[in-house]
Order: sequence, then C-alpha cells, then structure tokens
Amino acid sequence: MRYFDALKIIKNMKTEDQSEQEALKLALEALTKIDPVEPYRGEGDECYCPTCHEIIEEGYPLCDFCGQRFEWRD
Ligand SMILES: [Zn+2]
Repeated sequence: MRYFDALKIIKNMKTEDQSEQEALKLALEALTKIDPVEPYRGEGDECYCPTCHEIIEEGYPLCDFCGQRFEWRD
C-alpha cells in the first residue's frame, strides 16, 4: 500500500468516537503533507510554505511550522 492509497481509505473512515475522529483528522493531515509541494516565493527573497503560509528558509526539506515537505526547483 502507498501513502496515497492509505489517504483514500482514511478519508472514508467514519467513527462516532471523538478521540478517534481527532486521530483520523491528524493522520489525514500528516499523510497530506508527505507529498512534497513547491514553496511560494515572495517579492523579495522570502519563501513561503503553501500549507501554513509561514516564511521559511530556502532549501529546507520541510516546514518547521507545520511539517509540510518541500520540493525546491530553480
Ligand atoms: Zn508550513
């Protein structure tokens, strides 16, 4: 099974239990951030995380704030 398949399964899971719902939500969030995205570039030299919109350092493999993975291109 790949992350994408796990994501599809977790998205369809239903539970009445509140802590189980919270756990599913966190799992979904974490799995979503595994696939790398390209960071935004601002008008200056700043780079931004597309997921949480915090300023990040260029070249970092993942966001210090939310854990999103990055793919840097030139
Ligand atoms: Zn982030």
